[in-house]
Amino acid sequence: MQQGSRCSVPGQAPPWCPGHCFWVIPSWLSTMSLVWEWRPAVMLAAIDCADEANQQVCADFGITGFPTLKFFRAFSKKAEDGIRITNPSATVEDLRHAIITNLEQSQDTWPPACPPLEPASTDEVRTFFQRNKDQYLALIFEKSNSFVGREVALDMLQYENVAVRRVLSSEEELVEKFGVSTFPSGYLLFRNGSFSRLPVHIEARSFYTYYLRMLSGVTRGSYKLNTTVSASNETNTSQPKRADRSKVYVADLESTLHYSLRVEAARTAVLSGDQLATFKCYVAMLVKYFPGRPCVQTYLQSLDGWLRNWTEPELPRSALKEAMKNNRDASHPAVLPTNVSWVGCRGSEPHFRGYPCGLWTVFHLLTVQAAQSGPDKELPLEVLSAMRCYVRHFFGCQECAQHFEAMAAESMDRVAGREEAVLWLWSHHNEVNARLAGGDTEDPKFPKLQWPPPDMCPQCHKEERGVHAWDEPAVLTFLKAHFSPANIYPDYAE
Ligand code: FAD
Repeated sequence: MQQGSRCSVPGQAPPWCPGHCFWVIPSWLSTMSLVWEWRPAVMLAAIDCADEANQQVCADFGITGFPTLKFFRAFSKKAEDGIRITNPSATVEDLRHAIITNLEQSQDTWPPACPPLEPASTDEVRTFFQRNKDQYLALIFEKSNSFVGREVALDMLQYENVAVRRVLSSEEELVEKFGVSTFPSGYLLFRNGSFSRLPVHIEARSFYTYYLRMLSGVTRGSYKLNTTVSASNETNTSQPKRADRSKVYVADLESTLHYSLRVEAARTAVLSGDQLATFKCYVAMLVKYFPGRPCVQTYLQSLDGWLRNWTEPELPRSALKEAMKNNRDASHPAVLPTNVSWVGCRGSEPHFRGYPCGLWTVFHLLTVQAAQSGPDKELPLEVLSAMRCYVRHFFGCQECAQHFEAMAAESMDRVAGREEAVLWLWSHHNEVNARLAGGDTEDPKFPKLQWPPPDMCPQCHKEERGVHAWDEPAVLTFLKAHFSPANIYPDYAE
């Protein structure tokens, strides 16, 4: 073992796992995703001890029951060095706290990548900026038995320009200096000596972490798994206008429709069978629910009418391309712009964001419009099924299509209402965001977040027993407003 401490858990319930095991494993896996950001101070690994191929390694580690979590201090060399943290009724919060407690006991084997977790003293705070280059120091004031400060410090480990320290309520001089009256509470100190209270909706870990990650000048640092450095970074000095992320833009929607209809779906020489049915269904869905400009709606209606009249089993691309041309008839224009221009979906470099961002946006918009326009229980899967088929048959990213199909196969059929469909797409998009966070495809200027973040919708977030939770009715209300025609804007906000 090198720099980081390590925890290993079995990743999957063996077929014969007893009852409590099935209950406990999701929370353990959830722990893994929650401490993912604590790399490289704490590295997590899962070993499936039910797999015969792992029999020897599990025997070496002394694993006799499932699930078992073992903690290895930094620089551990032997399997026997693992400290067993096994409590079948442990919650996600308990497991995180157990990891921190073991980490703190490491002392002389403190992982070099781990920030200090002990409480800060008045002296340390006073001289912090003389000793460090950080732009900000965040202080979490808390009672001695609280883990919030230590968790936020670890959550911010991969971020540069900000340090986090916990201060105990017993540190009277600092408590008095900052006028702290509630615990926990967070304060932000600046290099010029000024400070302010962290303006969070709830005094809790996920809210502090989110706020600190969004601070100007705070960036995710060099610790990224599987990253490649772009050579063009330094030469690209143009500063595009920044879109307002609380808005939906016409340019993104129309660029997406143009690309999906005229480029992506028209790639094959001939459409037939399921592909043809999917294409017809996609266009019909757009006619029904896409809140476009009049000339775009007319365009979609005329394409839909043309497709309905096409009764041959095969549709050659040449015929389709002809049917998809704009008609600029002055009295009744049917026009879908043929240029691709991204506003809300514009990436910091051309290979980031763009079309996949637009496709998510279009489908969220369609699920919301469908929920607003018909009885909730009628055809709940209308839009989701059209999306599933579109992604399966046409979406250019095959790996994305396979992932999406796996999620759809698992739970889409259980969606029983149109509002549920809105939430299904939202929660599964967040699943994708979580999977991709910190990876190669993430635009560093637009980090993958659980969406909507607290500053866009504070009421969407809550914490239950120290774990972040969504207030789904509030999320639904937010999505209905965000993906509504009233929130679609023609261009950049000034
Ligand atoms: P996106 O994730 O594209 O989001 C677009 C916009 O939607 C955001 O700007 C935000 O305004 C809003 N938004 C974000 N989250 C939500 C939410 N939960 N609910 C509602 N609105 C939200 N890329 C891969 O590398 N691997 C994959 O497996 C993969 N699978 C994909 C599957 C599908 C069906 C699609 C459409 C795309 C997939 N992608 C995948 C691409 C990836 O999800 C992003 O679209 C892409 O990386 C661009 O990201 P972005 O930052 O622009 O935001």
